[in-house]
Amino acid sequence: MAVRKLRIHPDPVLRERCTPVTSFDQELHQLLDDLGESMYAHKGLGLAAPQIGVPVRALVVDVDQREGAPRLLEVVNPELVATSPETVVGEEGCLSFPDEFEKVKRPLRVTLRALDRHGQPWELTGEGMLARALLHEMDHLEGKLFIDHLSRLKRSLVERRMRKLQRAAS
Ligand SMILES: [Zn+2]
Repeated sequence: MAVRKLRIHPDPVLRERCTPVTSFDQELHQLLDDLGESMYAHKGLGLAAPQIGVPVRALVVDVDQREGAPRLLEVVNPELVATSPETVVGEEGCLSFPDEFEKVKRPLRVTLRALDRHGQPWELTGEGMLARALLHEMDHLEGKLFIDHLSRLKRSLVERRMRKLQRAAS
């Protein structure tokens, strides 16, 4: 297992539409292990494969770690089954946008179908933070980012700060 380097916006891999996982082999297991370890190391609630530079449909989420009871969800090839009509506005961040937090409106509940690391199907309904994290990470698989949910003004402010950060790093 290894903590992988995070891809930071505007890295083009973050805008790719990710390809489905077809082999449930050692390579996938390594990817999921690395996703989990990298998410915990960077104190994120979720991490999608493109965020470590691998544009495939795999992600991890753990919204319970802060309560001292980690529950790692490994999600492969997820499909949205249903979202609640009720929505909730909540603060959201992303490991590909260091120190950026913005309010985003999301469905309160989500049901999804996915595969586990062995290719076995499972289904999950999540609410609140879990629904938010799952929807945020699933967006990543479509090359969609949380700033896409913001107003044009807010988004341009984030983009400006990210460019500044990029200049400072280079
Ligand atoms: Zn993210």
